Amino acid sequence: MTRSERIIYDLVLMEKKSIALIAHDNKKDDLLEWAKHNEKTLSKFNLFATGTTGKKISDKIHQQVTRLQSGPLGGDQQIGALITEGKIDILIFFWDPLQPMPHDPDVKALLRIAVVWNIPMACNRSTADFILTSAMLFEKSERVNPSLEK
Ligand code: PGA
Repeated sequence: MTRSERIIYDLVLMEKKSIALIAHDNKKDDLLEWAKHNEKTLSKFNLFATGTTGKKISDKIHQQVTRLQSGPLGGDQQIGALITEGKIDILIFFWDPLQPMPHDPDVKALLRIAVVWNIPMACNRSTADFILTSAMLFEKSERVNPSLEK
């Protein structure tokens, strides 16, 4: 990507809100079905996802998805870093409560960082529906800066 392409890309990113999508293997069908159902709304956002989730979503809804590493290879940490940098506004993370994960520390770290930076986060479909139908969805949101002073 050239410098001017990068600037244009950053401007586009700034105009639209960005949603990060992640689903563990047993939850991928659920997320794909949800994404298909909400295809029109999702087209108004920049989409980011971990590797396998991103591939499946872009195949399903034919929308560009910025794909990071697969979760177990560090994708969750990459999403966490983007949240910290203010580049992700909403996290949709269908994690699996019934299966142990090799990257459990990364999963916990991501859930924690989403809370630290106060971004809306859905870990199941009903919460994801609430977020996507919220009146605040397209409002300009103020980023909260957590402070360690106290
Ligand atoms: P995946 O990663 O999208 O590459 O499957 C998700 C995860 O396991 O955290």
